[in-house]
Amino acid sequence: MSSPSDHDRAAWIQGPSAICSMIPRDADPAWRLVLLGAPGVGKGTQAQLLHQRLGACHLSTGDVFRAAATRKDCVLSPAMTTALDFMRRGNLVPDSTVWEMVRERAGCMRCLGGFLLDGFPRTLTQAQSLDQLLQTERIPLSAVVNYELAIPEIVTRLSGRRICQKCKAVFHITQQPPKSEGICDHCGAALYQREDDRPEAITVRLEVYEHSTAPLIQFYKQQGLLLSIPATGFPEQIADRTVSALDHRTRRAGI
Ligand code: AMP
Repeated sequence: MSSPSDHDRAAWIQGPSAICSMIPRDADPAWRLVLLGAPGVGKGTQAQLLHQRLGACHLSTGDVFRAAATRKDCVLSPAMTTALDFMRRGNLVPDSTVWEMVRERAGCMRCLGGFLLDGFPRTLTQAQSLDQLLQTERIPLSAVVNYELAIPEIVTRLSGRRICQKCKAVFHITQQPPKSEGICDHCGAALYQREDDRPEAITVRLEVYEHSTAPLIQFYKQQGLLLSIPATGFPEQIADRTVSALDHRTRRAGI
């Protein structure tokens, strides 16, 4: 089983000139999934678990922005500087900036190991651009997994979330605490709270989700791709539920 740190996702996080440390296995089937759900439902945690179980690579647009914000070896482009200002306030980064970044990394979508898109698409415009790209490249999505959770539980999850500075593993101060407070179980680095997990930004992010991202549920339902999964319980239970639903769907489709 792999841990989040042994798959560096270099080509996704740093851009197409970087080479990933791990050659993906040619998975059969290669899962190509979009993970949907409000901020805080646990898409990032599920993406890590699904990566371990299905082999597909975790492609998070938020991780690319956060990595750009912490890299000291490069000067940020004006578009990226603006993008990070939007992010800190909990607002969406403009579609054109997000799309340019994703299009540059289209090679990750051709990867034989498949992909788990987390945090993208987040608007109808982004979903339409992705559809066009995947159609042109003849890469069909396997499914769109929509994680469902009540708002009070979402707020609890977001405000208690802590992330490892180094390997990006996700913890929760009460629901999934690390063995030593503030220290990552996997690599021993310090944990931090994301700026946009602070109360002011959480309110903005939930409003933005309702307005811009929730309409994607209908968009993918109409395409017959939507799988809705309750995001209650422990992360492993939610991952079990997801894998069973995907298996069931695959068997039904005779894939
Ligand atoms: P996440 O880690 O997915 O919650 O993303 C963190 C922040 O990055 C979001 O609140 C947005 O500010 C920005 N972001 C990430 N992905 C996107 C996207 N697809 N469209 C617009 N903004 C995004």
